[in-house]
Amino acid sequence: MPTPRLADAHAHLDMPEYAADQSNIIQQAQEAGVGLIINVGISVKNSRQVLATARGYPWIYATAGVHPHGAAGVSGADLAAVADLLADPKVVALGEIGLDFYRRRAPEDIQEHVFRQFLDLAISHAKPVVIHTRDATARTLAILRDYRQRLAGGVMHCFSGTYDEAVAFLDLGLEISFSGVLTYPNAKPLHDAARRLPLERLLIETDAPYLSPQPRRGQRNEPAYVRFTAQTLAELRQQPLADIAAQTWENTCRVFGIHPDGGQQRENGKIRAV
Ligand SMILES: [Zn+2]
Ligand SMILES: [Zn+2]
Repeated sequence: MPTPRLADAHAHLDMPEYAADQSNIIQQAQEAGVGLIINVGISVKNSRQVLATARGYPWIYATAGVHPHGAAGVSGADLAAVADLLADPKVVALGEIGLDFYRRRAPEDIQEHVFRQFLDLAISHAKPVVIHTRDATARTLAILRDYRQRLAGGVMHCFSGTYDEAVAFLDLGLEISFSGVLTYPNAKPLHDAARRLPLERLLIETDAPYLSPQPRRGQRNEPAYVRFTAQTLAELRQQPLADIAAQTWENTCRVFGIHPDGGQQRENGKIRAV
């Protein structure tokens, strides 16, 4: 059976970890059946690079944003720069943005203020958002509730919470994206969520080069490994891998406004870029 085409809804192809072999990593993803990658920005500078990389591949798309780790340094000029990037058709979302109260590299109140500024920007540009939240679920939910009517959707990336938390985000119109964390044997509450949530609202991602799935734990992660998360999701839900691949592909295209044929397609076993 041919490998079903897979969408990696969140990867960082422009991190220093890939400086020496980025094109090989992208080729390996393609050979592993990955036909769509959302390349995610974490700073203004990185977002520009992310867009430049995406321009080189019809099946790779970009986001632009500033990770909450960098919230303390966000200026008006940075907001304007992100707004400029959002005008590019290759930039399909604003992110990653959000709250990280685990590492707390920026004070909490500043993170919240910047998060709100970016949510306003996403609304004014009618773009979906890619949200990072760590040890900050209650505050993230509270802030998002203020924006629920106006947001053009979005994704809770690397979701690692409980079923009830996932439902709260779904109720706000956001989709849930599972990373390689889903493959960890001790991630029991996450497994429970993955079994019970509606497949129509689920995405899969690598967050590469971080968060390698269980079979590659301790190594550098890469988009080709999204298949491990797809397999785990299929096993947990007792559904065929092909169905998981097809539905998460469709969901990724829907939330980011990409035509379902906008990625790479397989034709007679050969890879055809469209
Ligand atoms: Zn993140
Ligand atoms: Zn990320």
